[in-house]
Amino acid sequence: MKVLVLNCGSSSIKYKMFNMSNEVVLASGLVERIGMDGSKLIHKPTDKDKYQFEVDIPNHEVGINLILNALIDETHGVLNSMDEIDAIGHRTVHGGDKFSDSVLIDESVKQKLEDLIDLAPLHNPPGLMGINACERLLPNVPQVGVFDTAFHQTMPAASYTYALPYELCQKHKIRRYGFHGTSHKYVAYRAAELTGKDIKNCKIITCHLGNGASISAINNGKVMDTSMGFTPLEGLVMGTRCGLIDPAIIPFVMEKENLTTRKINELINKKSGVLGISGISSDFRDLEEAAQNGNERAQLALDVFTHVVKKTIGSYVAILNGVDVLVFTAGLGENSIYIREKICEGMNYLGITISKQKNNVRGEERIISKEGASTKVVIVPTNEELMIARDTKRIIEQQLSDSDFSWDYDSQGNRNNEKVFSL
Ligand code: ADP
Repeated sequence: MKVLVLNCGSSSIKYKMFNMSNEVVLASGLVERIGMDGSKLIHKPTDKDKYQFEVDIPNHEVGINLILNALIDETHGVLNSMDEIDAIGHRTVHGGDKFSDSVLIDESVKQKLEDLIDLAPLHNPPGLMGINACERLLPNVPQVGVFDTAFHQTMPAASYTYALPYELCQKHKIRRYGFHGTSHKYVAYRAAELTGKDIKNCKIITCHLGNGASISAINNGKVMDTSMGFTPLEGLVMGTRCGLIDPAIIPFVMEKENLTTRKINELINKKSGVLGISGISSDFRDLEEAAQNGNERAQLALDVFTHVVKKTIGSYVAILNGVDVLVFTAGLGENSIYIREKICEGMNYLGITISKQKNNVRGEERIISKEGASTKVVIVPTNEELMIARDTKRIIEQQLSDSDFSWDYDSQGNRNNEKVFSL
């Protein structure tokens, strides 16, 4: 089965084309600056030259059409025809409390996504634009929605309930949803595999530390708590987001600085985090360098970041009653030797001790805990696109088995029989 994975943002579309018979990436790429000057397609076929094409891309449908044409292009393409695309998997940010698993997209799913726009006004509309565009361009190809929130839907009410008036929360669907779910799920399953544990019988804490950052507590494959909340702002200190602060600071600052809702939102989302503390950068590479050169605010930003991560790990150990595997992933978790070392420092009472030598690595899957340590510490580079492709395949196969129909594939992953999918 060949699966096209799409991640539609407001002005960009990232894509990866997978052959799921061997999980090989056939091509990947990006359409950027949709609706702006300088819009372009960057197409990277595996084993062929990269290809870049600057052209006017006024909307998502034109962008997806360009991607499809690049995929079948005589020189740069990786497919003989669009008929080879068996399914499309969409990264969909917010599934609210309506979706606890990935889902085959039909009219009722699209309606639910519309209903959820209030909760994700920046992310769900471009996702829907991508879905509608694919429907028009490839009307016979089934589409699957894979939600950032779905993996977290197993959280108990005690984790997801905020202590605000109950009726108010019900009315406006205010609760902890959690994000980065696809990444937490992928790395948790992979880390269990790597350490020889059964995901259904172990306690895992996954640290997704990128520009956006979140941590999840996973017991026997089920999320028990996660640090992002109603929005991706809660929890850890991030590149530019403040994470958890005393909520009383918000009205205080609004009053003192005479700020509108838009301005305060911008302040806590775009001007805070390690950028706000350091006044230098949201990029941890810049901060590590500045701190090494003696910049105290850069050092303070790093210290605040690692302090909050440690505190969250500690609280999740309490929630899980222990931890078997601690996982680091995303830009910082995969690449920053310093940050991993600082987070794990002084946690030997939890069985967490890492080897300096094993930790001396960037972007590689590896167990970095010391030999014999009771908690395994691992780096797992995240792969959200592969998780989306796997989920898409699983949902399509489930659907097909429900309808007593199966596709037949040859050894190259090409489908032999006719597509008879109706939504
Ligand atoms: P997002 O997807 O949330 O935008 P990423 O997962 O790409 O973020 O992570 C970006 C972060 O990872 C940046 O802050 C960057 O500084 C950090 N990062 C990437 N490589 C390194 C490195 N070698 N050392 C330290 N930090 C790194």
